[in-house]
Amino acid sequence: MIYFDNSATTFVDKEVLETFNKVCTEYPGNANSIHSLGVKSKELEDYATDKIAKLLKVKPSEIIYTSGATESNNTVLKGIASKYKNRGNHIITTHLEHSSTIETAKYLESKGFIIDYVKIKEDGLIDLDNLKELITDKTILVAISYVDSELGIKQNIKEIRKIINNYPKCYLHVDATQALGKIEIDFNDIDFLSMSAHKIFGMKGIGLLIKKENIVIDNLIHGGKSTTIYRSGTPALPLICSLMKALELIIPNIENNYNHVKELNNKLIMALKKYNNVHINSTNNSIPYIINFSITNIKPETFIHAMEEENIFISTKSACSNSELSSSVYSLYHDNNIATHSIRISFSYKNTIEEVETFIKVFDKIYNKLSLK
Ligand code: PMP
Repeated sequence: MIYFDNSATTFVDKEVLETFNKVCTEYPGNANSIHSLGVKSKELEDYATDKIAKLLKVKPSEIIYTSGATESNNTVLKGIASKYKNRGNHIITTHLEHSSTIETAKYLESKGFIIDYVKIKEDGLIDLDNLKELITDKTILVAISYVDSELGIKQNIKEIRKIINNYPKCYLHVDATQALGKIEIDFNDIDFLSMSAHKIFGMKGIGLLIKKENIVIDNLIHGGKSTTIYRSGTPALPLICSLMKALELIIPNIENNYNHVKELNNKLIMALKKYNNVHINSTNNSIPYIINFSITNIKPETFIHAMEEENIFISTKSACSNSELSSSVYSLYHDNNIATHSIRISFSYKNTIEEVETFIKVFDKIYNKLSLK
């Protein structure tokens, strides 16, 4: 099997699963219980949180455990909107965002908030002049992906921050789900940051929201104190420790992994460029982990299923989007045909050059076969 859909999810690493199992069996207590089993679990929770904080270069008190980036994104958008509605009712985001941001923004729009989508340039970067035009004293949040899930564009967070700095009542939320473990993330420029463990060989059902210590938001999920006051529920200690392990395995190797994936990317892009009906949608600002392209004369579903018959797994758009047209791709090229034919390949550092070579051969066979129809 060749699995090139790592941006949808990754397979759990063996060591991560072992950590999960060990904590399940050896630390059964609730970390908030006062008896010795609880204390033992609490010690492990604090150890894991410290470790995660060190790996991410944030403070332990800035870490909020969630069920994943969807919950993290919801927590920030709704939490800011609820807390700061008296300051302003304006939120800025982009068409490159994941559905968990876009749909939450639409929900807030239905509640009276004004949502603006900043323009995207053809190179995939957000149009900073347009951001300057849109932002006002009533803007309470700018929500942007560090790296978007469809095209893999890495945004210039520093430049975005500079603009927001002129508006002290506005916060910057960055969805780093597709950036985590792939590129260095500078947390200093960011007020809120979302991520999910299952994109880095961790388990499904755990994610993080990093929140700058001094910022107060309203809760999405109410109840008793958990690991923080911001998200209730019994601390998911086995999942927390499995996340620590996933981060330990990936964070120290970001640079090596990046260089390896860059080689895979270069080889595949060179091969794809030879086809007349292939439009490469990813740009020079895309990270090498994601290649988005459109085969303009073949339905993407047909192509993907034909690849699957050869045991190769790739994706149309992102796994979580629900319309035919990719609004991400459309926001760059303003072309319906390109935006309705997009296909995404997403690598992990575990993919090999041999897999890319096999992919290229199979791609050629299927492209020629389906083009004749
Ligand atoms: N944001 C981005 C950029 C993503 O790629 C994803 C997952 N596809 C999410 C948020 C949501 O993550 P999860 O499904 O783990 O909640």
